[in-house]
Amino acid sequence: MKEILKTFGENLFSLKTMKEIVSSDVYESLVATIYAGKALDSSIAGEVAQAMKDWAIDNGATHYTHWFQPLTGSTAEKHDSFLKPDGKGGAIAQFKASELSMGEPDASSFPSGGLRATFEARGYTAWDPTSPAFLKKVDGVVTLCIPTIFCGYNGEALDMKTPLLRSINVLSEQVCRLGEYFGIDSTDKRASATLGCEQEYFLIDHSFYVERLDLLQTGRTLFGNTPAKHQQLDDHYFGAIKSRILVFMSEVDRELWKLGVPAQTRHNEVCPSQFEIAPLFEELNLAVDHNMIIMEVLRSVAERHGFACLLHEKPFAGVNGSGKHNNWSVTGTDGKNWLTPGDDPHENAKFLAMICALMKAVDTWAPLLRSSVATAGNDHRLGANEAPPAIISIFLGEQLFDVIEQIEKGKAESSKSGGQIAIGISSLPPMPRDATDRNRTSPFAFTGNKFEFRAPGSSQNTSAVNFILNTIVADALEEMCDEIDAAIADGVDFNAALQTCLHEIVKKHKRILFNGDNYTQEWQDEAAKRGLPNLRTTPEALASLVDEDSIALFEKYSILTRAELESRYEVHMEAYRMAIRIEADTAVTMARTLLPLPVIEFQKELATGIKASEEYGCEMKEGKLLLQEISREFENLMAKTKVLENTSIINTEETIAAMNDLRETVDRLEHLTPKELWPLPSYAEMMFMI
Ligand code: ADP
Ligand code: MG
Repeated sequence: MKEILKTFGENLFSLKTMKEIVSSDVYESLVATIYAGKALDSSIAGEVAQAMKDWAIDNGATHYTHWFQPLTGSTAEKHDSFLKPDGKGGAIAQFKASELSMGEPDASSFPSGGLRATFEARGYTAWDPTSPAFLKKVDGVVTLCIPTIFCGYNGEALDMKTPLLRSINVLSEQVCRLGEYFGIDSTDKRASATLGCEQEYFLIDHSFYVERLDLLQTGRTLFGNTPAKHQQLDDHYFGAIKSRILVFMSEVDRELWKLGVPAQTRHNEVCPSQFEIAPLFEELNLAVDHNMIIMEVLRSVAERHGFACLLHEKPFAGVNGSGKHNNWSVTGTDGKNWLTPGDDPHENAKFLAMICALMKAVDTWAPLLRSSVATAGNDHRLGANEAPPAIISIFLGEQLFDVIEQIEKGKAESSKSGGQIAIGISSLPPMPRDATDRNRTSPFAFTGNKFEFRAPGSSQNTSAVNFILNTIVADALEEMCDEIDAAIADGVDFNAALQTCLHEIVKKHKRILFNGDNYTQEWQDEAAKRGLPNLRTTPEALASLVDEDSIALFEKYSILTRAELESRYEVHMEAYRMAIRIEADTAVTMARTLLPLPVIEFQKELATGIKASEEYGCEMKEGKLLLQEISREFENLMAKTKVLENTSIINTEETIAAMNDLRETVDRLEHLTPKELWPLPSYAEMMFMI
């Protein structure tokens, strides 16, 4: 461990590294940009570039890249060499300020949703100094990666990071404004959102992976029967980790630590061959970048260990899929977590104000929040019989719920059992200190000091989720502060004004609270009665991204313009249609090129066997029935393949139905055909032979 501690962050161009090599003015200027949100002083770029290049080259780098997050949801990089001819027949290593600050990759092939015609291919990347550069080392090839935003010629956002950075500032402004009522001075400081992403994933042996065209092409199995034993016994969850897996996990941790990613927990998940990694939470923008790095490291280390890492939301039907729990909180300019009940009346009032802001935000903008997790892969989790449902609701736990009910009644004085914190003179109720009760079925759960949004899919870039979450919470806070200001202007004292504000919020938005089991039909019925939206599919959910209220919200805070939102909608819809089409085409290819021969082979052998047996006087009644069933299913296979082939990319519902229909036949055939003839590795092999 001592050795590891020494190597923490060694591949990271951190402030700590920089402090040693840049002048103190440049260092102070960067600190002000990173921690106080001051605009970047462009005159420092030259010195930073020089230091960054020297450090990278000392560590073996030959190339640098602007590392950005286009709307594909993954990361993108285009490597440039530091090497420049010196004009005298030799070469020098060079990295100019302009090369650090700005890049111009040919952007014509990145999705822009019509924001930019292909012939106007220019796209620009711009340095994000709030996320440190790092070295990517692959088999001795070292590349300096510089996190950047990515935008078009007129500054239109073409990536995931731009709206996220904008939303972080907007949230900070409103949090600071709330803080003022509580005497928290935010001059030259900024509040930050914090994020800890729990990343679920599957590992299977690489030899099985290459045998499954569906996994290679779509990330999930399109065919396959759930084995007799899978996750029913709950014997995998938190179970002892197999040695081969542990060695893999250990290498993942070490790689991440070198990159300054604070990997913290590792464990077996519910389904066999499913696992989880979670880092310690960090500032939001950094945590999002780190999650992208975690996914990449998982994939590459898996390959080195003879595994394939599956990050799809639903690699296997009939068992749990994978999510990415988005643990979100707010740290104020006092350095404290504002979602922790505090020790004194002031802090509790602030805490309850934040809880109510969340209630108001999530209830008002539930469809928007739902849209942030809408992808083809995630449709297999949300709205299916699996955590969490497509209905957005909040779990607060019994004790906090009780406090909220008291606020609703307008005379909140007592608290249910549990170590209470006296609130003294304030008119707000005492707070339960420990809200550790858990509800695993809730999509948006308060877990004592943060909110855990459980709907994001395992493969997602969480920027999409968090720029929306930040914006809706900022909006709720702004409205609350406006109301409180108006009341104070009318001579009402702050405590009373806050009390009234929270009382009104609870009355209006209490319907969003649900502490029960979210998987039940009763909840679906109850939610419908309460008028909570239940947007089951991606197209339904994405529509809310471009409704007039959403556009007004994002334009109000300059997060995204109408055109940018419309482009995002187009990109996400296209990605959805494409994902379904690729699945359909892959299923057709497999059904045509892999499956017929083995089935006919089996038919032939059966027929021969039956005939031969009959010659010896055997009855062979069941044998004939089996042969008939197989030939019937073979006909179905061909007929259903044709149907699927003829579906259109536009009609996704019809395509999904045709795919499911074909799957039924294929899975039946897998069930009937001898193992040695079936051309695809089985679920049992993939899940258990690791
Ligand atoms: P569980 O599985 O019980 O939900 P874990 O410990 O696996 O919890 O993960 C919880 C995640 O929440 C971790 O990444 C942790 O760092 C993060 N977290 C804890 N406190 C905060 C906070 N204040 N803000 C954001 N994330 C937090
Ligand atoms: Mg969790």
